[in-house]
This record gives sequence, structure tokens and C-alpha cells, in this order.
Amino acid sequence: MSYDSANIFAKILKGELPCHKVYEDDTALVMMDIFPQSTGHALVIPKTPSRNLLDADPAALSAIMPLVQRVAAAIMAATDADGIRLAQFNEAPAGQTVFHLHFHLIPAYEGVALAPHGGGKADDAELAALASAIAARL
Ligand code: 5GP
Repeated sequence: MSYDSANIFAKILKGELPCHKVYEDDTALVMMDIFPQSTGHALVIPKTPSRNLLDADPAALSAIMPLVQRVAAAIMAATDADGIRLAQFNEAPAGQTVFHLHFHLIPAYEGVALAPHGGGKADDAELAALASAIAARL
């Protein structure tokens, strides 16, 4: 399957749709997930277009991982989480719903179950506050 540039993350990357931005540079955008599985759930999105891991440019993959690590540490510091999950889904049967490569960073809190993937929408003010708290620790 090929990349379709009409996907929602491509529109966010072009600035055609809004997001709660944590960080942006020439190669990547980091934003809050609006249907978070836990408080602080963020997405690291390489700008180089690919559907997912399977068609990604290896150079883009190796360039993004240090940022994934930095954002994970910033989320841990900003949320006081007890752990963090890195997740990435490839094609619909594996749970992928947006077909532009992205890495989920999902903080975990002792004794708190994760919400389902693609659950309820978070409060915008709360997402904005989390985005700036995480950005401040990057
Ligand atoms: P996937 O299922 O493709 O791995 O993950 C897509 C993620 O994007 C889901 O966790 C979903 O909550 C999130 N999502 C869907 N639409 C939007 C949106 O418009 N803005 C943001 N920030 N996240 C979105």
C-alpha cells in the first residue's frame, strides 16, 4: 500500500489542522494525542512521508529515535509517571488508524489501567497545559 497525503497527520504537518504542539524541527513534530490512553500520551511524527515502519526510510528511522528518547524523558519528568510505553502500529489489522508513521509515548502510572486505544477525547485546556509542561523539560 502506498502513502496517501490526505491523512490527518499530513494535514497537521502542513499546518492545515491544529494540534497541541510539544516540539517541532525540520525533521519531526511532537504533539499530544487528543484521544490519550493516559495523561501525557504524545506522538512523535517524522516529517518524511511514510505509511509506517514498513515503508520508512531507514535514515529517517535512525534520525527520529534520539528524539523519541528525549520526549520520553521529558514526559516522565513532566507527568511524574512511573513508567512509559513506546508503541507503533503497522496497518489496520495491527491497530493503525492514521497512515503516516508515528511513535506513541504513553506514560504509565502505578495502579492505573491504560484507556483503550482510540478512546475518549481529552480536554483541550488539559492537553495545552501538558504540551507546555513537556516542552519545558525537553
Ligand atoms: P494509530 O492508531 O494510527 O497508531 O494512532 C493514531 C493516533 O492518533 C491515535 O492514538 C489517535 O488517538 C490519534 N489521533 C487521531 N486523530 C487525531 C487528531 O486529529 N489529532 C491528534 N493529536 N491525535 C489524533
